[in-house]
Amino acid sequence: MKYDAVVVGAGVAGLYSSLILASKGFRVALVESKPASRIGDKTCGDAIGVHHFEHIGLKPPDSVVDHVYKGVRIYSPSERYEITVPGEGVSVNRVKLGQWLLRQALDKGVELLDQHTVLGVTVKDNTVKSITVKKVGGGTVELEASGFIDASGAKPALRSRLPEAWPISEKPYTTDFNIAYREVVEYDGSVNEADRDYAVIYLNTVVAPGGYWWLFPKSGDGRVVNVGLGVIWNGLHNPRHNYDKYLKPRFPGRVIHAGGGIVPTRRPLPTMVWRNVGVVGDAAYTVNPVHGGGIGSSLEAADIVARHMGDALEQGVVDEESMWGANIEYMKAYGAKQAGLDVLRMYMQRLSNDDFEWIMANRLVDGSSVYDMGVKGELGERIAHTVLAVLKALSRPSLLNQLRTVRSYMKKAVELYLDKYPSKPAELPGWMRSVEDFFEEYRRTIGFEKGERVKW
Ligand SMILES: Cc1cc2nc3c(=O)[nH]c(=O)nc-3n(C[C@H](O)[C@H](O)[C@H](O)COP(=O)(O)OP(=O)(O)OC[C@H]3O[C@@H](n4cnc5c(N)ncnc54)[C@H](O)[C@@H]3O)c2cc1C
Repeated sequence: MKYDAVVVGAGVAGLYSSLILASKGFRVALVESKPASRIGDKTCGDAIGVHHFEHIGLKPPDSVVDHVYKGVRIYSPSERYEITVPGEGVSVNRVKLGQWLLRQALDKGVELLDQHTVLGVTVKDNTVKSITVKKVGGGTVELEASGFIDASGAKPALRSRLPEAWPISEKPYTTDFNIAYREVVEYDGSVNEADRDYAVIYLNTVVAPGGYWWLFPKSGDGRVVNVGLGVIWNGLHNPRHNYDKYLKPRFPGRVIHAGGGIVPTRRPLPTMVWRNVGVVGDAAYTVNPVHGGGIGSSLEAADIVARHMGDALEQGVVDEESMWGANIEYMKAYGAKQAGLDVLRMYMQRLSNDDFEWIMANRLVDGSSVYDMGVKGELGERIAHTVLAVLKALSRPSLLNQLRTVRSYMKKAVELYLDKYPSKPAELPGWMRSVEDFFEEYRRTIGFEKGERVKW
């Protein structure tokens, strides 16, 4: 079967990529291993900042929104101190969001091959010619296309089968991920009234080592909650075990949905396009490394890569040269910030409960500085000035020096992904080497153990 584009995976990233390409009049196949009725059913915290929808001009209907947030509230390990970060967000109903996007994609002519799983990829003349997919309980089909998009999530089905020499097939380390577990609970109690309209994050390295645990209310009365936790994937921690030990007793009630998953918490792939392939969403590591939110950035990456692939299809040449603008646009929109936050993430994963408690008790950071950091991926002048001055006054020389170091690496990481990002594909290998050296040096400096490369 021949298409202009084949998209693998009908999560938010694949649904939106296929919708954009079909809207431009291309013949698009969307391959998904789940049945159509389960599209959108993703284990998730469900929280998203509305600015992501605004950036791409997407207006989900009210029926997709379970609850509206005024911002994010962060609690210290003892829960005595809190920071409130302003910014409107929503708790989405993931199934309804997925089904809403699916309906639009089908209306635009996308051909859905649900219950089809990718089995293989055929590469000929340095280009992907086709993919082989198998229907559940049925036979195999070969799908040919001019362009392919991998939107198959954190364990990528397409790019993991591409030649290793292609930079788009880069393999991450296990510590580039959090493993997470969460339950949606009809809670016997109810969330504190003061917290009901916030996505609430708890820093606690005993409950969630290398991550955090969250309480995201899903109803105005605080009775339905999404509770979960993420831990760094280093072979030492089990999120389900920690959930049962620390959170289940605290949130008794009827479990509506339970599940786990992995979340990439790192800088983006070095390139989201290579030969006639684009990669979007979790498959391209577009998640925010610090808070783990990836719904919005998956949509933004899908928007960018699909538009560039559409232009390339129109020109009749689909390769990294014709689609390079996608990388430049994504790094500006989100990727450079991710690189800065990746530096901060590794440092935060080395902090203890005492460190977090001390930082929050001494009001080293406030809501607006966390907001600024989240927007830019940098410890801005104002924050740095205040934080460093306070640290000096409180005579904590070791933390002072560490923060100076982290700040300087964050700045350099943002520069690498913004000003120094290759203007053309030929410059990519040299740039990748400097990124690898940069992160190697940083990990050595802060004593961060990167772990094994993943097996897929
Ligand atoms: C526990 C947890 C909590 C989270 N909380 C939040 C949150 O609160 N806010 C937020 O913004 N983000 C959150 N995230 C991250 C967010 O869910 C993801 O970043 C986002 O959903 C990624 O979308 P995607 O389309 O790239 O991938 P996915 O949603 O993973 O979609 C991939 C699709 O590809 C399909 N697929 C996979 N392999 C194949 C194959 N071989 N053949 C065919 N189809 C295949 C899958 O079935 C799936 O439908 C959380 C993630 C987890 C795991």
